Amino acid sequence: MIQRPPALEKLLEILRSLPNVGPKMSERIAFHILRMPEDKIRDFIDILEASHAEVRPCPICGHWDDSSPCRVCQDPSRDKTVLCVVENSQDVQAVSRIKNFKGIYHVLGGTLSPLEGIGPDDLQITSLLKRLETEPIQEVILATNSDMEGESTAQYISKQILSVSAKIRGNGRPEGIKITRPAQGLPSGGELEYMDELTLTHAFDGRREFDRN
Ligand SMILES: [Zn+2]
Repeated sequence: MIQRPPALEKLLEILRSLPNVGPKMSERIAFHILRMPEDKIRDFIDILEASHAEVRPCPICGHWDDSSPCRVCQDPSRDKTVLCVVENSQDVQAVSRIKNFKGIYHVLGGTLSPLEGIGPDDLQITSLLKRLETEPIQEVILATNSDMEGESTAQYISKQILSVSAKIRGNGRPEGIKITRPAQGLPSGGELEYMDELTLTHAFDGRREFDRN
């Protein structure tokens, strides 16, 4: 076995720490980087630094953007009464392709996962409930994935919203908050960000009142 240069070894190690990058893929990327011309690698490093420094989660909805609050939260043409709850910022991008949806978002930052030790406090659930109390939201679309974690997260959040909903009614708001879920037809275990526009549009148009049982 021939020893690798320590710098290359470190590069491979950091590449392997990226999602879905195994040993083979890490080598392919590493050698691609090594072969890059000087000016290209400079650009690459600059872009990495700039995006890491400039793009941050929005303090209101959690969507990653370079303005704070994010562009969506600042957009006056958005329907502030319909809020779409998604797992991550990539899902915001996916849902934004749906022409009929002009509401606002809330990014959870993942799903409940007892196996991975992710509980309610690790997700942006408290901030979601706060928003329901302070913003004129009438409908919450629970657009978490249709896999097991996504379903149980939707169940959990819907129960939490019910209790907040009762509190809001006590504050003089006449209606409870409507909770909906995109229609069946989302591929089981399918991830929102990989769905095409048409399927997404159908799923959203056909969304129905969330079954809490
Ligand atoms: Zn925002």
